[in-house]
Amino acid sequence: RAKAEARGAFRFFEAEMDARLQARRLLERDLRQAVADESFEVYYQPIYSLAAERVCGFEALLRWNHPERGFISPAEFIPIAEEMGLIVPLGEWVLARACADAVRWPDGLKIAVNVSAVQFTSASLVTAVREALRSTGLPGRRLELEITESVLVANPGVTTAILHSLKGLGVRVSMDDFGTGYSSLSYLRSFPFDKIKIDQSFVRDLCEEDGTDFIVRAVIGLGASLGMTTTAEGVETEAQLLRLRAEGCDEVQGYLFSRPVPIGQVAGLIARWNGASRAIA
Ligand code: C2E
Ligand code: MG
Ligand code: MG
Ligand code: MG
Repeated sequence: RAKAEARGAFRFFEAEMDARLQARRLLERDLRQAVADESFEVYYQPIYSLAAERVCGFEALLRWNHPERGFISPAEFIPIAEEMGLIVPLGEWVLARACADAVRWPDGLKIAVNVSAVQFTSASLVTAVREALRSTGLPGRRLELEITESVLVANPGVTTAILHSLKGLGVRVSMDDFGTGYSSLSYLRSFPFDKIKIDQSFVRDLCEEDGTDFIVRAVIGLGASLGMTTTAEGVETEAQLLRLRAEGCDEVQGYLFSRPVPIGQVAGLIARWNGASRAIA
């Protein structure tokens, strides 16, 4: 009887695995098709400078509107794209799209593009960046690439070379999700980052009892002493904003200002925060 039950449980487990594999295979098929058809959208979330009291740029965030499932989070499909070897063409598409959109914004506004670890260390990254700048006419100083700590751990030597090539194009590089990975402080000293983005997990627990205020303060201090800009992600409340301002954080980004929006709503956001929409095409 116990045996029969175990067999039943195993069959159930097998069926579950089959269903999961099947779902994954379908998703892979759809993702491959979507990359071929370029059926993605880039949304933009404003980044606000506390010193200038203006929007100083936008982060490009990839959106996939699946025909049956609706919007699927990049946190779900980017890792699959990496495994399937699709992240390089997909990442290059985002880069080109974001640069083409950003070149029409007022000159002071930067565009930040996320680059996955796999794409960052691929042989074609620097060429793709140079080509995106050339074909759109966007000055290199207006482009920021966001990478995560995993890039550094995987291959520090290659990373240093790529970072210096990017610097040669005038492009800035930010450390995204700082504090969530495995890198050590020595990485910050040895890699020429321009910006540290404080992960939203630390921002969320600001001003809470036993909160993360001391971590945020330390990271802002670290950034200041290394000559790097600090940007806080995931700012949702006035209380968090006040604390970040008091601690000397340079830039903030989060739902308190705006959710990521489609390109058609960017001009309106700039007008609302910076007051002059006439310069925008
Ligand atoms: P990330 O680069 O750290 O982007 C910030 C994420 O936080 C975005 O999620 C954004 O929509 C979300 N966010 C912004 N403000 C708030 C807030 O106030 N509260 C909360 N709870 N969330 C906020 P999204 O768009 O789902 O992207 C998730 C991650 O997927 C990104 O994290 C990035 O790692 C990756 N990703 C997105 N677009 C791309 C891309 O084009 N290429 C690559 N390689 N990765 C991308
Ligand atoms: Mg990012
Ligand atoms: Mg982040
Ligand atoms: Mg993140």
